[in-house]
Amino acid sequence: MTTSTGKTNLLGLTQPEMEKFFDSIGEKRFRAGQVMKWIHHLGVDDFDAMTNVSKALREKLKVCAEIRGPEVVSEDISTDGTRKWVVRVASGSCVETVYIPQGKRGTLCVSSQAGCALDCSFCSTGKQGFNSNLTAAEVIGQVWIANKSFGSVPATVDRAITNVVMMGMGEPLLNFDNVVAAMHLMMDDLGYGISKRRVTLSTSGVVPMIDELSKHIDVSLALSLHAPNDALRNQLVPINKKYPLKVLLESCQRYMSTLGEKRVLTVEYTLLKDINDKVEHAVEMAELLKDTPCKINLIPFNPFPHSGYERPSNNAIRRFQDQLHQAGYNVTVRTTRGEDIDAACGQLVGQVLDRTRRSERYIAVRELSAEADLAQSAVTRT
Ligand code: SF4
Repeated sequence: MTTSTGKTNLLGLTQPEMEKFFDSIGEKRFRAGQVMKWIHHLGVDDFDAMTNVSKALREKLKVCAEIRGPEVVSEDISTDGTRKWVVRVASGSCVETVYIPQGKRGTLCVSSQAGCALDCSFCSTGKQGFNSNLTAAEVIGQVWIANKSFGSVPATVDRAITNVVMMGMGEPLLNFDNVVAAMHLMMDDLGYGISKRRVTLSTSGVVPMIDELSKHIDVSLALSLHAPNDALRNQLVPINKKYPLKVLLESCQRYMSTLGEKRVLTVEYTLLKDINDKVEHAVEMAELLKDTPCKINLIPFNPFPHSGYERPSNNAIRRFQDQLHQAGYNVTVRTTRGEDIDAACGQLVGQVLDRTRRSERYIAVRELSAEADLAQSAVTRT
C-alpha cells in the first residue's frame, strides 16, 4: 500500500506481502519477520530503532517505506477502564475504537469504514452516510495504537487485548480485502497472536461476502439480526431487501460449517421499544434460529438525538430474554446506563461530521462514556 508520500506503508502488510516487499527491493525475505516484530510486537514506527537491521537497510527503508498509523485525535478512559480512541484516517474523517475490559478479557472493537452506506434505521453511523473504506494499515493501526497505549509492548503473555471484534463503524464485508488482511495480522504470531476464536467479524448480512470470507479466513462470525422477520428487518436493516433472512441464515450456516469445530454464530439483536421487543418477537426469533447453532446478545438501544427510537423497559428486556432462554438459547443482555460503549454495530457517533459539529459530538461521547456500565447477565443454555 503506497501512501500519499509515495512510500509503502509497512503497517498494513501481511507476512506474505511483507516478504514480497523485501523481494521487490532486493532484500532477503527473512527481513519481513524482523521488521514485523518491531512494528507489531514492539510498537516501533522509526526504522532507526530497529537495531538488528543493518544501517544500510534502515537507510534504504527510510527512502521507500514508512510505518504510519491513523492519527490519534483523542483518547478517553472511563472510570470502569473502558477506553475510547478517536482516530483520523487518510480521507480526513474520524473513526472510533473502543476497548472494554471484563475480568481477564479485554475486547477491542475496531472500525472498518468511515461512515456506512447501509443506512440501518436505528444507527447513528448509518445516518452519516458513507465516507471511505479504511486501508488495512488503518484497520490494524487501531490495534497497534491501543496496544501501545496500554504499554503492551514489548508483547507479553498477559496481553491487554485478548479479543478483537470488527463491530465498530462500517460494514466490514464491504471493505473485504483490507479487513481480511488486518484480521490475518491480528492472528499472525508476527502480528498480535490472537486466537481465531477471539477475532470476530460482525456483519449486517452481505451474503455473497459471507461465502467469500470462508475462502480466506476462519475467524468467528457475528450477525447483526435486529428483527425476527423480513417485513420488520426490511425496515430496520435495509440490506435485508436484497438478502432476506432465509438466504442470510443459510449463508451463516455455511460459513460456520466450514470452521469444522464447535463454534457457534453470535447473533446481535438491538432491542427497540415497541418495535422489536415484544414476547411474540422473541418467539418468532426462537423459531427463526432453530436450525442455526448460536448464542444471542441482546443490546438494549441507547438513544441518540433524533434517532426516533427508545430503549425498552427492564421488564420488557427481561421478558424477551426469558422467552429465548426457555426456548433453549444462550442469551446475554448487555445492560448500560447512557451509551453502550461496547460499540456494538450502530452505536458509534460523530465520525464523518464537519469539524465544528464533530467536536461537539465528541464531548457528548466522552460524557456518555463516563456513564457507561457494562454489567452483563448471562444465561447458559440448558
Ligand atoms: S448498523 Fe452497522 S451496517 Fe448498519 S448502518 Fe450502522 S454501521 Fe452500517
